[in-house]
Amino acid sequence: MLFETHDMSSGQTVRVMSEALNYRQLLEEEASRRGIRVFYHGRGAQWGRAGLRSKRIFIPTPHRFPSFFTGLHEIGHIVKNHQAGDGKSEYLWEYEAFRWAVEFCKEKGIPVPERTINNERDIIAEKLREEAEGGKENLDLEVVRFVKEGTDRDPDVAFVKKSISDEGRVTVQHHSRESA
Ligand SMILES: [Zn+2]
Repeated sequence: MLFETHDMSSGQTVRVMSEALNYRQLLEEEASRRGIRVFYHGRGAQWGRAGLRSKRIFIPTPHRFPSFFTGLHEIGHIVKNHQAGDGKSEYLWEYEAFRWAVEFCKEKGIPVPERTINNERDIIAEKLREEAEGGKENLDLEVVRFVKEGTDRDPDVAFVKKSISDEGRVTVQHHSRESA
């Protein structure tokens, strides 16, 4: 992959061949622009955490697209200002962070592989399902529609298709919630 980057020393735009170098640079520049500190870990490409108040992210070194996207997703949580008690459900946090990362890539002209979108969709579907089974009756319809674009191979996507209407209404009967 070929990227254009700005060479600070010469003041010129140069073309760089290294994909990994650019992922790392893009990520660190964006983090720094937003006052976010980046910490790398060795726990795998899909694992990331954001310290929302401390504005720190714990992410894999962005060698390839999946790890790069994990880093963007964590920046997204901070940019969208997700906080405990902000009134948003977990599925909405995950969706908003995902959307932010997708938009970032779009602006930079970096294609997001279908596989990455499907991985995120499965995670969001699982959290959506938890919310529905927990008794929530109305769910964000943009998120519901996004999840429904997935395949039934994922059991949580299949659940959403079967049990939540296109308007975001939960149609499944809730488990009876007797106190023990
Ligand atoms: Zn997340």
